[in-house]
Amino acid sequence: MRKNIVAGNWKMNKTLQEGLELAKGIEAALAGKTPNCDVIIGTPFIHLASVVDAIDTNKIGVAAENCADKASGAYTGEVSAQMVASTGAKYVILGHSERRAYYHETPEILKEKTILALANGLTPIFCIGEVLEEREAGKHFDVVKAQIEESLFNLSAEDFGKIILAYEPVWAIGTGKTATAEQAQEMHAFIRKTIADKYGNEVAENCSILYGGSCKPSNAKELFANKDVDGGLIGGAALEVDSFMGIINAF
Ligand code: PGA
Repeated sequence: MRKNIVAGNWKMNKTLQEGLELAKGIEAALAGKTPNCDVIIGTPFIHLASVVDAIDTNKIGVAAENCADKASGAYTGEVSAQMVASTGAKYVILGHSERRAYYHETPEILKEKTILALANGLTPIFCIGEVLEEREAGKHFDVVKAQIEESLFNLSAEDFGKIILAYEPVWAIGTGKTATAEQAQEMHAFIRKTIADKYGNEVAENCSILYGGSCKPSNAKELFANKDVDGGLIGGAALEVDSFMGIINAF
């Protein structure tokens, strides 16, 4: 049975003190409750170890927002998957459209990052999604399929089975413009079929596919009600306890 997941992506927001306050606030809001989804928070590298220490990571998983495409060595400023894992973080967001667009992360680089993340016991939350021009040109299915094929279809079925996918149409990220529930379901079903064609039905059925892009408490229920939408990757609405909890409670 695949998992429902609500994962926050703080991006480059929050000082260490603010981040700790937010993480503890989410933990306090969840106290005594059993949400109908796994809860994950993705924090800047520099907060990871402190956030892991401050909360019960059996209740709230902690994710890095990136990791290096090299294992170790002379790569000034980079953070390896092994370093991320050594903090107690269990997840890593890879292939976010902001990393692809602003830091020139290619499918080949993302392939390497995924291999290293898995080798270090991290669960990748792998992001895919088309830009507006691609959707308008009717190329969105081809683009998303290529993103999956180029960076992930080298994996064994066992390793692919460890991946969480996040479909994030780039035109919906931080824009307030959400994909409709129909657009999300249509793409998620396509993604699941793409996985089934390569790895078979069981792997496809077990893969959690999250939606991301202006997901908020007011639209989460409608999005999550779709049979192939297994939760959300949340940016802006993950920066406040109330809005993040509102999305968790949409399940
Ligand atoms: P948003 O970001 O919820 O602010 O649109 C989502 C994301 O980029 O993961």
